[in-house]
Amino acid sequence: MNSMTFLLAQNVSSEFLLDPIKPMFLFVTALLASAIVSKLVSDIHKCGLASHKWHAILIGGLTAGLFAGLFIPTFWISWPTQIIFTVGPILFYWKTRNAAVPEKQKFVIGGDKVRAFFKKRGTSKSLAGAQLAFKDANKKDRPNPAKTDPILPAFQAADALLGNALHKRASRVDLVVKPDAVSAAITVDGIRSKADSATPEITTAMIDFLKGLAALDVKEKRKRQSGSFFVIKEEVVIPVSISIAGSSAGQQLRIDFDRAHTMTRTIPQVGFLPSQEKTVQSIMDPMARGGVALLAAAPGQGLTSTALAMLSGHDAFTAAVKTLEKNLIHRLDGVDHQVWTSAQGGVDYSTHLQSIIRRSPDVVYVEDAAEVGVGKLIAAPNNNEIRFYVAVPVDGVAAAITEWVKSVGDVKLAAGPLRLVIAQKLCRKLCLACRVGYQPSPDQAKKLGIAAGKQVELFKGSGKVQTKNKIIDCPMCNGTGYVGQIIISEVFVVDDEARVFLAKGDLKSAYNSSRLRHKLPGMQESALLRVRDGTTSLEEAIRILSPAASKTAAPAAAADKPTSTTPPAAGKPAAGKSAPAPSAAKPASPPNKPKASQ
Ligand SMILES: [Zn+2]
Repeated sequence: MNSMTFLLAQNVSSEFLLDPIKPMFLFVTALLASAIVSKLVSDIHKCGLASHKWHAILIGGLTAGLFAGLFIPTFWISWPTQIIFTVGPILFYWKTRNAAVPEKQKFVIGGDKVRAFFKKRGTSKSLAGAQLAFKDANKKDRPNPAKTDPILPAFQAADALLGNALHKRASRVDLVVKPDAVSAAITVDGIRSKADSATPEITTAMIDFLKGLAALDVKEKRKRQSGSFFVIKEEVVIPVSISIAGSSAGQQLRIDFDRAHTMTRTIPQVGFLPSQEKTVQSIMDPMARGGVALLAAAPGQGLTSTALAMLSGHDAFTAAVKTLEKNLIHRLDGVDHQVWTSAQGGVDYSTHLQSIIRRSPDVVYVEDAAEVGVGKLIAAPNNNEIRFYVAVPVDGVAAAITEWVKSVGDVKLAAGPLRLVIAQKLCRKLCLACRVGYQPSPDQAKKLGIAAGKQVELFKGSGKVQTKNKIIDCPMCNGTGYVGQIIISEVFVVDDEARVFLAKGDLKSAYNSSRLRHKLPGMQESALLRVRDGTTSLEEAIRILSPAASKTAAPAAAADKPTSTTPPAAGKPAAGKSAPAPSAAKPASPPNKPKASQ
């Protein structure tokens, strides 16, 4: 074996001595390949793939390639062999990675992700100091203006407004431009706050600049227009949707960043508690489809995201899944998304829904049950083989059922197909970098249903971290103490017994009997469970549970309305009906030590 290596090595040196160009090929190949592999090493972790295994495969390929290149005597065999050994594992990784990550993060040849992946920071910026670069509606680069360009102030205003909003992790920006004043607001994790803005003249010019990017009619100042474009921030391409309308009072602009990004969740990713998830999954059984599931949330509380997750629970290959939406945010693979608009003077919503039902779908998502005739159509006994997901833009199980009954117009007919109600709110998640642990006071512990004497650590947001003797705003959450949102939900099963009560208009008994039998947590109990597991803080739970936080439902006046429209207190959670008193928001002197160092 040793002599073999020796002979090969001799061969190497003789060929290398004869022709210095050939080794160059080997080294350049090895160099390029190691540059790619070193980039991929950080990518492996991000994609959640097995690090050790992939490091071994990629580096093994690199090494094997180099050895083949060095020790196979004939260059025209050794070099191609090196390439095959080196590139093979990289291609294999590419394929595995694309299968593992969501559509948006896949590497596609010529795709932005791949380009951004290899692009050096800031190369797309022609203007020093700009935070962002822009792409138009067709994804074509819009070069940043030169210093003398008259568009410069408008560009800089857009760069500042959108750049600062993105820096603060905003999902949305709202602008109102009046002749003498501009007001701007950003929404971060569902919380709206004021933002800085430029003068009315510059803001108007900025709006024209953004309209131009989105290929909208710049001269049209009145009619509502919607479009999209892209911004690039730190190599990441972010889709931006804008919607603008004007009146004599001024223009109103709404900007949403990457609206589709939460729309590709599966049911396990929605954030149900384990018992809730099990119940939700149980109605996915293709053998027992049929029936109506109401999905309820006040506007802005993540309803569309949950609705799409429910649709993704049905196999689009074996079930015909259709939707009728007014605001199409995201298309799911295999789902027939149909968009209804009032503007075209075409058929009304329920007629459009009727035509969808006629094509015998298996699953239908209905975005607006308040439209005339829609409830009646869905509840019609001859449609009982179809599973309907019906969005109801109200807060809470009771309000959702009341709205549903109102939409159908007959309490008995409405109760018939009802199988499940999911009501949800969005709750901010504590920032893991700066949350602070504390022991709840006996009073708080009691409200959280913690047995007396049991030691439990709760967490609260601090927004501060310590770096080398200095307390600074936490860089992960920009000092808010929270990063991202999760749903807090109540899953309510309408079983046969509950249905009988409902058909009689007795919502209270229906609610109590189902809660007793299925033992699923109510809204308040769900929120408190998320406090106990450290996902959120007691303060945040109280905020989302207090009626002021979420706009309460439409008036509960139904044609045949159930006797009770307020959710009855279910005896289950120790906290009972009353939300924890606001005084509970102040934990008894928490030990003030930030958990993480950075
Ligand atoms: Zn933080």
